[in-house]
Amino acid sequence: MLKSKKGVLMSMTRRDFLKTTAAVAAASAAGITVPEEAKAAAEAGEAGWQWDKAVCRFCGTGCGIMVATKNGKIVAVKGDPEAPVNRGINCIKGYFNAKIMYGADRLTQPLLRLNENGEFDKNAPFRPVSWKRAFDEMEKQFKKYYNELGPTGVAIFGSGQYTIQEGYAAVKLIKAGWRSNNIDPNARHCMASAVVGFYQTFGIDEPAGCYDDIELTDTVITWGANMAEMHPILWSRVSDAKLNNPDKYVVVNLSTYRNRCSNLADMEIIFRPNTDLAIMNYIGREILKRNAVNWDFVKKHTIFATGTVDTGYGMREPSVAKKLGYSEKEMQTIKKQAAKVVTDEEAKALSAIGKWKAGDTMEMTHRKGHAPFFHWEISFEDFKKAVEPYTLDYVASVAKGDPDESIESFKAKLKKLADLYCDPNRKVVSFWTMGFNQHVRGSWINEIVYMVHLLLGKQSVPGSGAFSLTGQPSACGTAREVGTFAHRLPADMLVANPKHRKITEKLWKIPHGTLNPKVGSHFVKIMRDLEQGKIKWAWVHVNNPWQNTANANHWLKAARKMDNFIVVNECYPGISARVADLILPVAMIYEKWGAYGNAERRTQHWRQQVVAPGEAMTDIWTIVEFSKRFKLKEVWKEWPKQKLPNVLEEAKKMGYSPDDTLFDVLFNRPEYRKNFPWPDPIAKNPQTGKLHPNTEAAGDGREIIGSDGKPFKGYGFFIQKALWEEYRKFGVGHGHDLADFDTYHKVRGLRWPVVNGKETKWRFNTEYDPYARKFAKPGEKFAFYGPLLKTIKRGNLAHPIKSMGKVHLANKAKIFFRPFMVHPEDPKYDKDGYNFWLCTGRVLEHWHSGTMTMRVPELYRAMPEALCYMNPKDAKALGLNRFDLVVIESRRGKVKARVETRGRNKPPRGLVFVPWFDEKVLINKVTLDATCPMSKETDYKKAAVKIYKA
Ligand code: SF4
Repeated sequence: MLKSKKGVLMSMTRRDFLKTTAAVAAASAAGITVPEEAKAAAEAGEAGWQWDKAVCRFCGTGCGIMVATKNGKIVAVKGDPEAPVNRGINCIKGYFNAKIMYGADRLTQPLLRLNENGEFDKNAPFRPVSWKRAFDEMEKQFKKYYNELGPTGVAIFGSGQYTIQEGYAAVKLIKAGWRSNNIDPNARHCMASAVVGFYQTFGIDEPAGCYDDIELTDTVITWGANMAEMHPILWSRVSDAKLNNPDKYVVVNLSTYRNRCSNLADMEIIFRPNTDLAIMNYIGREILKRNAVNWDFVKKHTIFATGTVDTGYGMREPSVAKKLGYSEKEMQTIKKQAAKVVTDEEAKALSAIGKWKAGDTMEMTHRKGHAPFFHWEISFEDFKKAVEPYTLDYVASVAKGDPDESIESFKAKLKKLADLYCDPNRKVVSFWTMGFNQHVRGSWINEIVYMVHLLLGKQSVPGSGAFSLTGQPSACGTAREVGTFAHRLPADMLVANPKHRKITEKLWKIPHGTLNPKVGSHFVKIMRDLEQGKIKWAWVHVNNPWQNTANANHWLKAARKMDNFIVVNECYPGISARVADLILPVAMIYEKWGAYGNAERRTQHWRQQVVAPGEAMTDIWTIVEFSKRFKLKEVWKEWPKQKLPNVLEEAKKMGYSPDDTLFDVLFNRPEYRKNFPWPDPIAKNPQTGKLHPNTEAAGDGREIIGSDGKPFKGYGFFIQKALWEEYRKFGVGHGHDLADFDTYHKVRGLRWPVVNGKETKWRFNTEYDPYARKFAKPGEKFAFYGPLLKTIKRGNLAHPIKSMGKVHLANKAKIFFRPFMVHPEDPKYDKDGYNFWLCTGRVLEHWHSGTMTMRVPELYRAMPEALCYMNPKDAKALGLNRFDLVVIESRRGKVKARVETRGRNKPPRGLVFVPWFDEKVLINKVTLDATCPMSKETDYKKAAVKIYKA
């Protein structure tokens, strides 16, 4: 029995109350009038709850949520009505942001593989240890391998789910402290191709537009983006816009199989995997043929460009694979890394280049180092010549993806697609996610979607633009902006650039020469290096690499059987935790202070709401505590093999002692302690005025024994704020301006660059972007001011020509020609019976590897296992019934899954879709670790498999 504020007595169970509260919140968000009694009941049920704003833990949409805390637990989550992204609603995962924290098997103690004598033994079972013992072993193993192999022998698997401060702390420790660039986020798997597309085209990362484009446009084209499941709140905004203007607002869904986006779409185009490049070139050709080029825009703001073609497929070098004992079957695909035979359909696609004809062997001459990135300016005439072979007939013949669709129908759709793009009275937004990014030509397809938009002048204007969506909540904010990549530093800077290193060393107050100029190992390469014994110590943060990396059999074996030490920070015992040698239990989302940056450049912060269970501590704490274990003389000495100088003398001049620790120099800085005391007024809850906890700053009463063996009572200063304020100095004045820490706690996020307190909605457009105004010539509307790769050679379609010199492209974007090429495992050319395409991805109900969402009973029940989505005709031909168990077998491995012929995903004949959230159906044992040679992002969307009854 509960009493409302108005004294109305109601007979309600707790369950009824929770339902009422949720219903009231949802109804209010949707603008529905709520009966007074229900409102009163909801208010009464919320007595003693402390509400605060936060950000959804899951996808890159970046929805705002409200979380309610009572007695040290999160008791409710609802959509934040004030959040501009989601306006009070969440998708199904969003509502379970709190429940992920309360799974029964939450890890609460460090676990180390120990034998009966209490010694570390790689083959022993996990046993609970103290944090001190955990750090002792971690240090011992680290120093053994670090001293043996040098800075390149250690690595961190980072994440697009790191908070911004976590990513920043990790980068400082590994790059400034250990002088290694072997840190790479799982975001490499997610949007590295988009990054390369931005760099190559605009010279600066991240989208020009923002989510406002959804309501401002009248044409949405999705290319390999199942937004209905992966960005459901954005899709609800698209649906809303479509339903409000059904005649004018057009939605087209391009995909390799029918998905939920097709339910809303006016037109669905099912294409053969890898042929999106052919379709895009067809549209480019049509733009020229129909005289739809916006010449004023093109002449003022762009140049034409192309690059090397023979770049391989980002696989292991065949000679190395052979030495490592890869099987004959695996080698059938891997050998294409070095050379391939040009097919008939490729010969036509490449014809204007004039180098290859059908049947020729293409040696992959430009597959190593920077060679895949080489590009140069070409003339408009060359560009026109290059797209000329991409006629409607040719493109339809290579790209039609549904064998049961007629060629006429497919051609009509392509023509209609070109009509939509070319219509001068239409605004167009092209959205994409993993369909483009996880692609052996992922960077190319990213470049040429801009080709289409730039030719039309439909870029960087409200309602029009090519818009790359991200998968993870902070793929932009942390992985990209902080620079947790092997090649990056904060704010788009690069480790290979001496000026960028100098700026970073100055801001980090470390000696000149400390930073390692050599690009580190990317995500897949860290796995490959573990397999080769080049890396022997790895630390995993906020992700599950042994489930999320393609060709997993190799990496599982390398982790367990080789001489190495794997540390995994985890909240649940997922696959990576189970292959580790040491598991560190860590805090989850609202058990720590944090910030994320979403796909529209919106940065959002939240406060710690509750304290982690047991002995679980935050990722930042593990990083900072471990930094106490290193004296400067151990890391800043000379490393001859890596050509890293001794910087200890320089360090002394800066006032450091060789016996100072990395903790002293990187994290326990005097200015941090002085300028960011704890408590801080911003930590007061706006509703109750109570202070939010801060485990790192003040301890949290648990007095966990820290790295030094003493009870941890907090660092005594607001470390998250200190790290933020230092980090944002990198971007201010350089086009990446972020606001101060306190501002973000008062607003629902801001889209950078934030200049004079004002966010930027459309970059490169002088009307909206202060940097465009700064750089544009008088009277010009646009300035593509990104500074990277802006001096390039000139040449023809085949190669650069020395005598033509170089061109400087200040304020210009590049319109690329990139050809269609056949995937190295295309079943069309398979002679060994691997006659199905395998495509992997996510599902609405589960986040990534399912480590968190599979522990939420509601989400588990909604989607308890990964199914093999298959066309009913294929199932019939194979003698399979719905839910029969099948084997999915590739050249690398096999798994079993149940067949689904009537589900949400409807593949054409010849393709199956198997999601990767389910560790019992470890589909990444089957997938191919081919990557885009430029971005190094894995192509999870394509591998050749056989299917048969189990
Ligand atoms: S999962 Fe994505 S769409 Fe769903 S609530 Fe979270 S941020 Fe929004």
